[in-house]
Amino acid sequence: MESKKILIVEDEESIAELEKDYLELSGFSVAIETTGDKGLRRALEEDFNLYILDLMLPNVDGFEICKSIREKKNTPILVVSAKKDDIDKIRGLGLGADDYITKPFSPSELVARVKAHLSRYDRLISSSVPENDIIEIRGIRIDKTARRVYVDDEEKVLTTKEFDLLTFLASNPNHVFTKEELFRKIWDMESIGDIATVTVHIKKIREKIEYDTSKPQYIETIWGVGYRFKV
Ligand code: CA
Repeated sequence: MESKKILIVEDEESIAELEKDYLELSGFSVAIETTGDKGLRRALEEDFNLYILDLMLPNVDGFEICKSIREKKNTPILVVSAKKDDIDKIRGLGLGADDYITKPFSPSELVARVKAHLSRYDRLISSSVPENDIIEIRGIRIDKTARRVYVDDEEKVLTTKEFDLLTFLASNPNHVFTKEELFRKIWDMESIGDIATVTVHIKKIREKIEYDTSKPQYIETIWGVGYRFKV
């Protein structure tokens, strides 16, 4: 796995180097800028996984850098300052920093906070990507989002109506539906056709997903009633 990149903007080089050493020991890749203007430019031009900002910096201060990063990126920002007043000020301004550390701090505390913010951010990102809606029953996997069907990891190509019918049955397992109900549900009343259409489609689906169509494992025929998806 590629290591996470951190940018430190800090004009006291000894502090910057100390932070860098500890972060690198924890497997991070670290860049340092010692002036505010260079720090700001680099923060916006390059992609980092996290920013550590000092507040009192030459040329452009940490307040300005924090505000400018936040206008463009959601990347976590940790603010460090020797002055508690400055930390109170940046909190009060609501510039979007994620955490505040008062100098002097222990390097291990910094590393712990960095890790916590990175994992929180990762969770945030992964939870914002919607997962596919999948039904999985005894070797058959129906990906409702991607509209794909797999049996023992082998993809089976179904027509639109075959897919809709299979998915409807599998979404209501062990529920017996009559052919009329299925026809109404999948084809709606406007459609041309009749309940024999359902029988034909069930046959086609079975040919695609069953090992032995004479002994169906998934869609069961309930004689005189209709069909159900067995669980
Ligand atoms: Ca400073």
